[in-house]
Amino acid sequence: LNDHIDLHIHSTASDGTLSPAEILVKAIELNLRAIAITDHDTIEGSKWVLAKGLPAGLQFLTGVEISANPLPAFPMPGSLHILGYAFHLEDLHLNRSLYRLQKARRDRNPRIIQKLNLLGFDISFESVISDTDPGCQIGRPHIARYMVKRGYAKSLEDAFNTYLSAGKPAYVEKFRVECAQAIKLIRDAGGIPVLAHPGLLNMGIDERFESMITVLKSMGLRGMEVYYPDHTSELTFYYADLAKHHDLLLTGGTDFHGTLKPDINMGSGYGDLAIPYTLYEKLITEC
Ligand code: AMP
Ligand code: ZN
Ligand code: FE
Ligand code: FE
Repeated sequence: LNDHIDLHIHSTASDGTLSPAEILVKAIELNLRAIAITDHDTIEGSKWVLAKGLPAGLQFLTGVEISANPLPAFPMPGSLHILGYAFHLEDLHLNRSLYRLQKARRDRNPRIIQKLNLLGFDISFESVISDTDPGCQIGRPHIARYMVKRGYAKSLEDAFNTYLSAGKPAYVEKFRVECAQAIKLIRDAGGIPVLAHPGLLNMGIDERFESMITVLKSMGLRGMEVYYPDHTSELTFYYADLAKHHDLLLTGGTDFHGTLKPDINMGSGYGDLAIPYTLYEKLITEC
């Protein structure tokens, strides 16, 4: 029997390509013991799962991944992702804030398309959404996928690196909450805020990263996503050590997005990630 978990999964409620129902089926097939659906700025996937009920043998945490502004003292392009776990789905402040973030993402899409049109690409919003599930939250990955389909980019990565990422010609800023707000929203809803994929911040093994963790912890951060497909074993060791030293919970997940991140498998990342169930047990005792 498998003794593993995956606490970072995107569904069609944001930019994953499997519905919450399909995610449950796959988690059972893979013998995972616990999962969380952590969509970008929406909890509709978690709501769907809890309304329908869980298959026997699978444990589930409510989840979200909030895109927050970087800390002023640690500037970086783009956003800092704060994961939230085991919060109350009906919390009013959390729901209201997430609606505002969803609106910001919706309002940004036409502006990205306008920039791409000015760069000479024949793209319309209608053509981008014709390939997406109804009810999914359209964002840059869907635009990137359409660019690949039309031959405007070689891959999703290429579309981001050449046009869509922060600092690139079709990038458009969007409203984001501050880290302190994201952390407080999750805590006030009874949940556990966790810093997502620290390795993607490209800060390396450095005292500056440790000072940033200290600041986030003072804001109420409770955990760090230590186990992540793109973390080298050296980084994983460093984050695990740092988390223990700063009394933070250790979490892990694959950031599964279905075919929008085709190299990443649910539960195992590039194929060799194994996140132990004991992390889940530790996490739920802290709720
Ligand atoms: P958005 O919601 O429009 O801000 O898009 C954020 C999503 O874009 C995240 O799910 C990321 O997985 C994806 N993303 C960001 N940068 C890249 C990249 N360089 N390559 C592929 N996907 C990316
Ligand atoms: Zn995503
Ligand atoms: Fe993320
Ligand atoms: Fe993610």
